[in-house]
Amino acid sequence: MIPVNEPLFGDKEKEYLLQCIDEKWISSEGPFVRKFEEAMASFLDVSFGVAVSNGTAALEVALAAIELQPGDEVIMPTFTIISCAIAVTRLGGIPVLVDCEPDTWNMDIKQIENRITQKTKAILPVHIYGHPVDMDPLLDLATKYGLFVIEDAAEAHGAEYKGKKCGALGHIGCFSFYANKIITTGEGGMLVTRDKHLADRSRSIRNLCFGKERRFVHAELGNNFRMSNLQAAVGVAQMERIAEFVQIKRTNAQRYLNLLQGIQGIHLPVEKTWARSIYWMFGVVLDPSCGMEADMLAGKLLEKGIQTRPFFYPLHLQPAYHRLGLFGGESYPVSEEISRYGLYLPSGLALTQGQIEYVGMELRNILSTNTKEIKPSN
Ligand SMILES: *Cc1c(COP(=O)(O)O)cnc(C)c1O
Repeated sequence: MIPVNEPLFGDKEKEYLLQCIDEKWISSEGPFVRKFEEAMASFLDVSFGVAVSNGTAALEVALAAIELQPGDEVIMPTFTIISCAIAVTRLGGIPVLVDCEPDTWNMDIKQIENRITQKTKAILPVHIYGHPVDMDPLLDLATKYGLFVIEDAAEAHGAEYKGKKCGALGHIGCFSFYANKIITTGEGGMLVTRDKHLADRSRSIRNLCFGKERRFVHAELGNNFRMSNLQAAVGVAQMERIAEFVQIKRTNAQRYLNLLQGIQGIHLPVEKTWARSIYWMFGVVLDPSCGMEADMLAGKLLEKGIQTRPFFYPLHLQPAYHRLGLFGGESYPVSEEISRYGLYLPSGLALTQGQIEYVGMELRNILSTNTKEIKPSN
């Protein structure tokens, strides 16, 4: 079986983990947490990193840091993970959705301005599958209307927009270090920012908002979203190789592109001229003319020992939000289509060239057989 993802570890992860045990620093107070925060901040050329327990928590801390109030609106793509919406609704805010672009699968910037109201507090772009969002027009809108920009860069460590790193383009950038992300700490996340006030607020919110004068007197309600020294130790080791990991992702994507280019009935990831994608996951979208949806293709690939994952299911179709009276009757055709016809292929860092060639060959076979099967009826 070729797994959809597998992390890549070396000796350093073991060495730093053993150091935690030997030195008995295992909680969030240990020295690796600061080291990991500094390594991320310096990689992204920002001033502050605030490590947290996961990427979902990073988003929630970010929105609490900008003081999102009940009833405040946050504009985000419907084609994204539920974490983005949960972070908003947990604080009583309202996610306001836009559709995505058919080629990059990122939020369609042209749809944002229409959705801005008196209640809008922030825009939450998500760099889907490692391709940067077109940030300049988005940042212009944010400036024009006085909005915060919280970037979800959980799939985009090392991706670049016009030469600048994703996650460092808005007021706060949010990262995840879940096992399938570009670098991993098992579970983990981080906020990054250039704003000292937002960094200080984020540190406080992740750590129960302990009092400054008197520790157990709390002026605000925070969370325990701390990252442990054990997780950060793995993170520091992973950060030492991040440039190499990004290169592996890009090389693997290029191999897939070479193998799959020109096949009928399938849409491949694009890279805009201003973008440096890290191809976090190599997504493909079937053309509806194939007469095959992604789940059927996934089944056929699985028979050949190839694991895949379906694309995100759009937020506006989530039963959990319909139950709360949100998004009922809303429709975003591009997201609906790619969620039905899209999946991603094995994209892990440990993937071999032989495995990529095997996946490419099997995919080509399935699609050409399928085309032959449906041709006669046309
Ligand atoms: C993985 C991911 C998250 C959530 O991160 P967790 O660490 O799993 O909580 C948030 N946003 C996006 C776009 C992601 O891919």
